[in-house]
Amino acid sequence: MSRPIRAHINLSALKHNLRVVRRHASAKVMAVVKANAYGHGLLRVAEALRDAEGFALLDIRDAIILRDAGFRQTILLLEGFFTQEEVPLLAEYELTTVVHNHQQLAWLEAYPRKNGLSVWLKINTGMNRLGFMPADVPAVMERLKSYRGVRDVTLMTHFAQADEAVGIAKQLEVFNHVAASYHAPRSLANSATILRHPDAQGDWVRPGIMLYGSSPFADVSAQALGLQAVETLSSELISVRELRRGECVGYGASFRAENTMRIGTVACGYADGYPRHAATGTPILVNGKRTRTLGRVSMDMLAVDLSDISDAQIGSPVVLWGEGLPVDEVASAAGTISYELLCALAQRVPVSY
Ligand SMILES: *Cc1c(COP(=O)(O)O)cnc(C)c1O
Repeated sequence: MSRPIRAHINLSALKHNLRVVRRHASAKVMAVVKANAYGHGLLRVAEALRDAEGFALLDIRDAIILRDAGFRQTILLLEGFFTQEEVPLLAEYELTTVVHNHQQLAWLEAYPRKNGLSVWLKINTGMNRLGFMPADVPAVMERLKSYRGVRDVTLMTHFAQADEAVGIAKQLEVFNHVAASYHAPRSLANSATILRHPDAQGDWVRPGIMLYGSSPFADVSAQALGLQAVETLSSELISVRELRRGECVGYGASFRAENTMRIGTVACGYADGYPRHAATGTPILVNGKRTRTLGRVSMDMLAVDLSDISDAQIGSPVVLWGEGLPVDEVASAAGTISYELLCALAQRVPVSY
């Protein structure tokens, strides 16, 4: 027998969440599957999301894996290419590339292919990570037009605060001002924008986290948004014991019992992708009942409070997050966001679908 930790991916929840995207946006859907589909498994997720009009990711090798697996949709490289050698692969596998800087533009122009490539021109409207400055866009568009290797150009930008109260107005104004001069299709919306800003859907939306059943907002639950949990991380109790008043548990002895209490040890630690920063009190389910973690998370184990779960014993099921316990709640208790927890699921955790 192996360690009892498991991740289960609910593919029908994934499909349900794609329908939620479509309820909010009539645009084409570019499903974001970067980081191994947010830790869920690239190919299985892409199969479940077969209805999406496109897939967006970072690594050209992953893009080729999708093509070779028979996906005919648009496949977009969100950061474009990183070396000149990758440019011929774009044509060979009919990949769509973001172009966000002058270096990429020059590499593209050095490639002799005629009328083949689809380009998404990234405009920096205030995020200041990637993208051409608005003032540079006319010259870049001119160059793309005169370089005969580009078949079509989509204009894109990315919002820094779509999930916050201040919103997207400033960046949207900059984008609309630049884009007004062109007939090109547009893409602006991540999950938060899809859910909160119907005025900024454009021709292609780019949902990521909402497909995986998690909320992009700190103050709205996934359930309130109609999203279903996709990944459930579960394990079992592998030890049960009693702490007497004054006794401690785990490294650093950071939790001390105030009275006699029952505790359990769960086969799950930070080497499985559980956040080490989850403090005492992080929610967790044992036998389907909600309780809390105790003390520091170790590499392979963590401790839980069994005071109110009298039937708990070795082998009792534990849910770390997922069905019955939103990953957003665990993330927030650990001072992070669900994205980080989902992406950090460790290689050693077996995944079922
Ligand atoms: C990751 C990413 C998205 C998806 O963002 P979510 O918040 O997960 O919906 C969309 N667009 C770009 C450019 C991204 O990098």
